[in-house]
Amino acid sequence: MPLMSPEEYKASLRDGRRVFYRGEPVEDVTAHPTIGLAVDHAAIDYEMAHGGADRELAVVDGPVGPFSRYYHIPENAEDLLKRSALIERATALGGTLVVLIKEIGTDALFALHLIAAYMDRETGTDYLPRVKKFYEHCRDNDLAIAVAQTDVKGDRGKGPSDQVHPDYYVRVVSQDAEGIVLRGAKVHTSVSTNAHEIIVLPTRNMGEGDEGYAVACAVPANAPGLTMICSGYGRSGNEFEHPIASKHKMMETLTIFEDVKVPWERVFMNGETGMAGPLAKTFVEYHRFTAVSYKLPLVDLFVGASYLMAEYNGILRANHVRDKLAKLISYARILRGMTSEAARECRMVDGVAVPDVETVNIAKLHFATGYHQALAWVQDIAGGLLVTGPTEEDLNDPRLGELVEKYLGAAGGVSAGDRLRLMNLIAEITATDFAGYQAVLAIHAEGSIEAEKMTIWREHNTAPAVEYAKWLANIKD
Ligand SMILES: Cc1cc2nc3c(=O)[nH]c(=O)nc-3n(C[C@H](O)[C@H](O)[C@H](O)COP(=O)(O)OP(=O)(O)OC[C@H]3O[C@@H](n4cnc5c(N)ncnc54)[C@H](O)[C@@H]3O)c2cc1C
Repeated sequence: MPLMSPEEYKASLRDGRRVFYRGEPVEDVTAHPTIGLAVDHAAIDYEMAHGGADRELAVVDGPVGPFSRYYHIPENAEDLLKRSALIERATALGGTLVVLIKEIGTDALFALHLIAAYMDRETGTDYLPRVKKFYEHCRDNDLAIAVAQTDVKGDRGKGPSDQVHPDYYVRVVSQDAEGIVLRGAKVHTSVSTNAHEIIVLPTRNMGEGDEGYAVACAVPANAPGLTMICSGYGRSGNEFEHPIASKHKMMETLTIFEDVKVPWERVFMNGETGMAGPLAKTFVEYHRFTAVSYKLPLVDLFVGASYLMAEYNGILRANHVRDKLAKLISYARILRGMTSEAARECRMVDGVAVPDVETVNIAKLHFATGYHQALAWVQDIAGGLLVTGPTEEDLNDPRLGELVEKYLGAAGGVSAGDRLRLMNLIAEITATDFAGYQAVLAIHAEGSIEAEKMTIWREHNTAPAVEYAKWLANIKD
């Protein structure tokens, strides 16, 4: 099947999936006022591949015709750089919000290729042919994929089998000649309402007794027994006040598996407790690379919008403003430099390029821990009008428009309308519901800050620096 058009993608989502929004069943996700916005946002990936200037970046030629570059298994640093550029471009078109319907799924598929190959080689299992077949099914049918990794987890201090009930982590409750039966719930599952397939991955290391929880598989979004309960975070107002959130949205769900049957050909791990952690970690290695790639439009916007606002406010020459702009520029440039560095320093595993783990995690940690400070600098430069300004209705009102224009005009003769437009854009990324969503996304998505630090601690080779310290201090072993 050739690449899907945006319209074909939308039509393909009318498949009887079980979705609820604020307690109400949703018959057609594409027609729903909030979820439909997420569908339109997701369609960006299909639009880019369908034609126009972005097609070259978005599409590669394969054995059965052209396919989405997201599905191209990276073979070298150049492939990773192109993948990063594609993710960045799609996110820029998405108003700083990642599109994710192919990014996250292919992150999981790359990890599954590596772990299945390892398991088959080391333990004689037969998972890799299944992974390859499923990968080709998704690639050749141009499918959108969600990844349900994060379990609801209950008491974080306890493992899967020590919880007060057995379903705080998704598990296999039975299996027969046809396949497995899955029960439990995953949470925060992005783009699930508008994906075709949901890949289920383990979220952590597993030990003895956790065999039922060491499961990886793929489930169609309309599988019997699968229920998606949407987050209540909705669409935001008009385009003047919400230039991003009125047009772009990602939808997350509580994704519940009530005895969902999964045929063997879609099962990629079943009981191998020792490999649950490595699979979770390998997915995250790719997914954090996706993360730092999709953060780039947002950090660039911090710089561009603050600079323009400093001009509008007549403060561009002030030392403290230049100081803040220089720090915002550094924040953005460090992230960009480290993202490319992670691609260039990739390592090869079974012919597949894996971004440098330590660099990816340092980049993500840099972004996440600096995020709220960066927001503060942007808010500081913009001023309080971020949350107190008049509306589009006032600006267009024959009695009030002139007054708004007279009193809220900007330096250099910039109109009040343009000043408020820029103010609203900055509010959108620093002070609205959307800004709050982005802030939580910055801290938690792709794993929390502590997970990044743990990885850096584990990956970094301190020996050369320690040896250098000993040499300078004249310490001899
Ligand atoms: C917008 C958004 C989109 C997301 N999309 C997806 C998705 O598509 N698919 C998916 O699978 N996941 C997704 N996630 C989930 C994301 O990976 C998790 O939010 C993240 O891993 C943190 O898990 P949590 O939310 O359960 O928080 P928690 O794990 O509860 O973390 C809260 C705090 O508790 C700490 N903590 C947790 N456990 C322990 C422990 N044992 N010991 C000490 N401290 C601990 C953490 O470090 C953190 O400080 C998404 C998250 C967000 C916010």
